[in-house]
Amino acid sequence: MKITADVGIIAAGPAGLCAAVSAAEAGASVVVFEKANNVGGTANMGMGPFGVESRIQKAAFSNLTKEAAYRKFMDYVHWHTDARLVREYFWKSGDTIDWLEDMGVKFVGALKMFPDSEATWHVVQPEDGSRPGPRAATTMNKVVYKRALELGVKFFLETPAYRILKEDGKVCGILARNAEGEEVELRCKAVVVATGGFCGNLEMIKEYTGYEYGKNIFQHTDHNIIGDGIRMVWEIGGAKGRMSIEATGGRASVGDGDMEAAILSIAFAQANLTVNKQGFRVCDESIMQNSSVAANIIDEQPDKKVFNLLDESIIKRYRRSGMPFSSSVIGAGNIDDFDVRFTKLAELYPEHFFAADSLEELADKAGVDKKNLLETVEEYNDACDINYDDVFGKDRRYLLPYKGKRFYAAIGRIGGYGTLGGIKVNWKQEVVDENSEPIPGLWGAGSDINEIYDGTYMFYLPGNTMGFAVNTGRIAGERAAEYALNLD
Ligand SMILES: Cc1cc2nc3c(=O)[nH]c(=O)nc-3n(C[C@H](O)[C@H](O)[C@H](O)COP(=O)(O)OP(=O)(O)OC[C@H]3O[C@@H](n4cnc5c(N)ncnc54)[C@H](O)[C@@H]3O)c2cc1C
Repeated sequence: MKITADVGIIAAGPAGLCAAVSAAEAGASVVVFEKANNVGGTANMGMGPFGVESRIQKAAFSNLTKEAAYRKFMDYVHWHTDARLVREYFWKSGDTIDWLEDMGVKFVGALKMFPDSEATWHVVQPEDGSRPGPRAATTMNKVVYKRALELGVKFFLETPAYRILKEDGKVCGILARNAEGEEVELRCKAVVVATGGFCGNLEMIKEYTGYEYGKNIFQHTDHNIIGDGIRMVWEIGGAKGRMSIEATGGRASVGDGDMEAAILSIAFAQANLTVNKQGFRVCDESIMQNSSVAANIIDEQPDKKVFNLLDESIIKRYRRSGMPFSSSVIGAGNIDDFDVRFTKLAELYPEHFFAADSLEELADKAGVDKKNLLETVEEYNDACDINYDDVFGKDRRYLLPYKGKRFYAAIGRIGGYGTLGGIKVNWKQEVVDENSEPIPGLWGAGSDINEIYDGTYMFYLPGNTMGFAVNTGRIAGERAAEYALNLD
């Protein structure tokens, strides 16, 4: 099948969807190829994008300005990224939230991810009216998809693109193959690539980030997202961008028991004692509320793992007066019958969770150095007695001693939401070659081009990768349309 359009878009994750709408709004005819049988990509699992100076924030009297947020972001990443590209993203981000609202997306508000973060996370209100949780952003993707269809965008689902066509130095089309095995050849003037990175390609993860899936990283994987766009761009002379994992600290997946593990894990994420396998304390545990910082802390430890510890006296106290932190995804954890439920979980997943009647037994079960653990707990209990943590200076509110008769441990590992980077672009999101020269007609968007974090995902301004995807998608669509409509 041979077809034509002004702009061709590879993939319909949030970046591709927003590119499709903005290009069509600019007057271009648009074709989108999507590998999966639905749209939305990994954003279907998430809750919402970043934005600053949105209408929602202004109505809530937020005093966070785009200049202040930008400065905070750039200082956080040591200015080790394209400052102009980040500027374009931040300056657009509030307006993009308004743009999504005008399309029909409803947000519950601009929320924080944890106490020290800013309220930039525009969490989507699910269409069924339920409390937003994992998958809330599916509703946003559906609304953007509907808007694209209304604008006349043509979608080919289950039709992965496999080659970008280039003639006389200019990009001029896309080859894709549909579910029936038929080749679809699109001839177009501009192409936007937004295939979401390489989270499902374990070889690429090992080669380009050094992590080994299942050994020292347990992040989200998706069999559709295997670096296709990155490979297609490299094949036609695009330069390699900096590649990394969007790492967060958390639990390794335990399959069927995930939800119960996630609920009970909230009790383990309350800034209590955390040690490495040598039994030494690893940080001021309250800092681990920021899960990308937690990933870095875990990364520094032997075998890249830590052990969060609890005992029955702490659980008793939480039941009486509540836990200091709730999960921004799941809410307040239900810890009724904790001992029974956690003991069952520990029996089901003996490599992840441990319950014991003494600290010695807990150390043996979990594989933590017993002598050091006992010394660490003694030192920590002393700190709790005098209400001062001379090792890490943790806030007094979180100093709870281990005085119970039943002890619990949960292993913390490095997980994450996916991968970042691979395709090198300039600040206009034009894909560039090894000489930093733009390849005419080719734009990148979303996680394929996201190298803005200098190695640590910026959780203090939450919603940042989906925010990057929707904004860079929208910008790429506008620029690709302008180029295509003005090409002789
Ligand atoms: C559990 C989870 C929760 C998350 N929550 C949040 C959150 O609340 N806020 C936030 O900021 N970020 C969140 N993220 C991250 C966010 O979802 C991603 O940053 C975002 O979806 C990236 O958008 P994208 O369009 O670049 O890629 P993706 O959403 O990954 O989409 C890529 C698309 O490319 C398609 N594709 C791949 N290869 C081809 C091909 N050859 N041809 C055609 N199509 C192809 C795929 O099928 C997919 O649809 C979360 C991620 C996960 C896993």
